[in-house]
Amino acid sequence: MPDPIGTISRVLRWSVVDGPGNRLVLFLQGCNFNCPGCHNPHTIGVCNDCGDCIPACPTDALTLVDGRIAFDPTLCTDCDECLRACPISANPMVRRMSVEDVLVLLRRDVAFLNGLTVSGGEATMQLKFVRALFAAVKAAPDLAHLTCFVDSNGHLGPQGWAKLLDVTDGVMLDIKAFDPDRHRNLTGQGNERVLASARLLAKAGKLAELRFLLVPGQTDNTDEIDALRDFARSLGPGIRLRLNAFQHHGVRGPARDWPVMRRAGVEQAAARLMAADIGPLVLPSVWLNG
Ligand code: SF4
Ligand code: SF4
Repeated sequence: MPDPIGTISRVLRWSVVDGPGNRLVLFLQGCNFNCPGCHNPHTIGVCNDCGDCIPACPTDALTLVDGRIAFDPTLCTDCDECLRACPISANPMVRRMSVEDVLVLLRRDVAFLNGLTVSGGEATMQLKFVRALFAAVKAAPDLAHLTCFVDSNGHLGPQGWAKLLDVTDGVMLDIKAFDPDRHRNLTGQGNERVLASARLLAKAGKLAELRFLLVPGQTDNTDEIDALRDFARSLGPGIRLRLNAFQHHGVRGPARDWPVMRRAGVEQAAARLMAADIGPLVLPSVWLNG
């Protein structure tokens, strides 16, 4: 069987906010949610080689070759005009990488890394690649000490998790809302599979963090916060919660008109959660608004 190839939107050589310690992060292309509030909307779509982004590029870094979009990174000035031009929120600058390609990146920086995180997009949509990559890291004597984490929207089903968990050290899972209709409005999908994934991962001891995005007027009300508290409690003691605060960077459509989440609102939600004696609780570290 040929080695699986990953379609990668971006490689981040260092990150201290995508799991424990210092991590190499791969943002995989493609997502099965369609959140207006997504901060990386160009990772959602999968390119269909339509060519609509070519005229938007001021440096001719994009062309069609045999009907496929081709990208010349030596001509690219990182202006992102192509991302804005794409009608399906895809990225013509993706890299196709083998497992061995990623191992080379890890070995270059291994002395400074604690692990590898796959994010997105939704990384589990490229399940075969992620499984092969994590298995290769675990099997390499010089890399096996690196932890392998997944940042996920939780839409993967139990059969999919079963293929991944033996080579995964932890999963950071987003819950966008507890009210099913609100979740559908925020993501385009229901939340039953997300909640089931959280339960499955907690039971397996692989739920590294639950993340909850506070959007003013949508997910910062007491019903949602209390539902988060009760759900975290139901998963067992010591579930790590992270509150994120909605901001405007990258968002599309109606989300541009949503108010941003301010510090006072996050502190109010945090106080309600802390009164319930759950945690640990992690708050946004950088405030763009007072
Ligand atoms: S980001 Fe690069 S490829 Fe995209 S439009 Fe700008 S120069 Fe062209
Ligand atoms: S990135 Fe978007 S606009 Fe460009 S070729 Fe692919 S689908 Fe078309």
